[in-house]
Amino acid sequence: MAAHFLLIFLDGLGLGKIGPDNPLSEPAAMPFLTHYLGQPLIAKAQSVQQNVLLKPIDATLGVAGLPQSATGQTTLYTGQNAPKFLGRHQSGFANGSLRSLIDHYGLFRRALLQGKTATLANAYSPEYFYAIAQRKRRYSVCTLLNLLAQLPFRMQYEYDQEKALYWNITGEAPPQIKEARNPISPQLAGQRLAALSAEYGVTLFESYLTDYAGHAQDKASAVKYLQRIDSFLQSTIHHLPPHVTLLVTSDHGNVENLSTKHHTLNPVPLLAVGIHAHDFAPVINLTGITPKILALL
Ligand SMILES: [Zn+2]
Repeated sequence: MAAHFLLIFLDGLGLGKIGPDNPLSEPAAMPFLTHYLGQPLIAKAQSVQQNVLLKPIDATLGVAGLPQSATGQTTLYTGQNAPKFLGRHQSGFANGSLRSLIDHYGLFRRALLQGKTATLANAYSPEYFYAIAQRKRRYSVCTLLNLLAQLPFRMQYEYDQEKALYWNITGEAPPQIKEARNPISPQLAGQRLAALSAEYGVTLFESYLTDYAGHAQDKASAVKYLQRIDSFLQSTIHHLPPHVTLLVTSDHGNVENLSTKHHTLNPVPLLAVGIHAHDFAPVINLTGITPKILALL
């Protein structure tokens, strides 16, 4: 079977020093991954096992200042050094010139040009697109990646058909939102995502839990979210189809240092699990992932 890739993006997750400000150094935070990799996700974490690779990769990309989301995510999904292109790290959303990079080099569009398939597994709401139309919101990088490839967005009915995930993994809505989403366990979310990845050349899922916890400097919620991510990854790996290689990475550090509400200069993890895991060994920064996926597809 052709090689498939499942990319799980965890916003704001770096590899930092062990200590009271790093929730990833709490044994309770990621018990599965710590056991699976033989170490916690902390500074210099490396693991090479059969079909498993973990290494730190650089997120600063040779540009001064703290790495930010729009340039980091654009780099991840295009293979182009977006902060170098712009001359700075850019936070939040993708503006005109980042949009042109995504249009030219976007992973989804190029996968389609190679005759492969791609999908964004995140569930979207009509309210999101209304807010964009009213210019109250702007497109995120992954939204543009999907849009510029002219691919459909997954909506609530696909969530109900077990074919989409909410960005927070479980679909738990904050109490002020009345809309029923039928929350699911992280285990079930992992199972659904693994099943979806069997059908597409490239499947992308994004979660921002770690970046939110990092900006909030809230250790209790950081540990809770890391536990959720840990159960989710455990289930995804357990249910991973044999022709799918899982990649887990981030755009910049944040949650691993709760002494600051800002991003960090720390490297981010690149975890690869599956038959092509070791092909990602030469990747040293955020630019390396998309070209490698496209070469292996
Ligand atoms: Zn952030």
